[in-house]
Amino acid sequence: MQRSPLRADLLLLLVAASQFMRNEVSAGIFMSVLAAMVATIPPLKRLTNMHVLIQKGIAAAESIYDVLDRRPEPDEGDEMPGRVDGEVRFEGVGFSYPGHDRRVLEDIDLVLERGTVTALVGRSGSGKTTLARLLPRFHAPSAGRILLDGRDLAEYDLDALRRQIALVGQQTVLFDDSIEANIRYGQLADASRAEVEDAARQAHAMEFIDQLPDGLDTRIGAAGVQLSGGQKQRIAIARALLKNAPILILDEATSALDAESEQAVQRGMKRLMADRTTLVIAHRLTTVERADQVVVMDQGRIVERGRHEDLLARPDGLYQHLYHAQFREDADGESVDGPASTSDSA
Ligand code: ADP
Repeated sequence: MQRSPLRADLLLLLVAASQFMRNEVSAGIFMSVLAAMVATIPPLKRLTNMHVLIQKGIAAAESIYDVLDRRPEPDEGDEMPGRVDGEVRFEGVGFSYPGHDRRVLEDIDLVLERGTVTALVGRSGSGKTTLARLLPRFHAPSAGRILLDGRDLAEYDLDALRRQIALVGQQTVLFDDSIEANIRYGQLADASRAEVEDAARQAHAMEFIDQLPDGLDTRIGAAGVQLSGGQKQRIAIARALLKNAPILILDEATSALDAESEQAVQRGMKRLMADRTTLVIAHRLTTVERADQVVVMDQGRIVERGRHEDLLARPDGLYQHLYHAQFREDADGESVDGPASTSDSA
């Protein structure tokens, strides 16, 4: 397409030249044709580049319509609790992703007692993340129901429900703003400076924030300092502490942190979990050892549950196997990154 104007030039040149050879065209006319032809080249070139612009426009429009066409999240419930107690009950929960027949979760019966820690373990793809994502209603169960304080999750107003839940994922999204603004982000815009600092201290984040040139006012992100994986996690913990929700969902990092960050993150996590109903996708030995119940998942089902010591004592159980594959290195003082886990987070 780019070469077509040049080919047209060539053709014109040939025609003009052939008539000129037969003395039918004067030198003056030939020069006029040539000049006119040269003048048409830039607009023709611009025209051939138009399709790139048009393609970009079409791609952008597709993305916009993709978002506009999405159905709003179902939000029929009107229950607006101030602060829930935090007892969660999964009753016969099954789930398939929309457009897929395969059940990713099947017959999940599970109680998360108020203020306790439940650690989910299992191979990659066993359904841990999907199960955790049902709680803030990122998806609705395809079968069974989930109760919070004895009420079906669907009965809650969506915003009110999500105010009850703090999420700390493997990847912490940070904004190009000060550390203080990053901790305060979300519905916590009205938290005072002292509250932000207190949360950062409890998350063991002040230890590194104090070392930064402007402390809490230091800008992070593209225009400011870059933080390490462990430091980002501590910011996420501070955010969750500030939110102070009764329910906590944690997706522990699979990748290794430096020893100092690891200890600080563990202490921050411990502080965060205290007195909250916690569901943690566990990758760390200390987490499963401390958990009130460990739930072992395999192919979307719960196959074992109990305390770490009891599960470990069961000969030939899946937990035994996972422990040796995933957590044993941790017991030797190194971080966990077993064959079943994926390694991301930064
Ligand atoms: P885990 O957290 O234990 O690694 P996941 O809950 O991420 O497991 O995944 C469970 C199963 O669901 C996997 O087989 C995965 O391929 C599938 N799955 C996860 N997310 C989606 C999705 N958005 N659409 C369809 N299938 C998915």
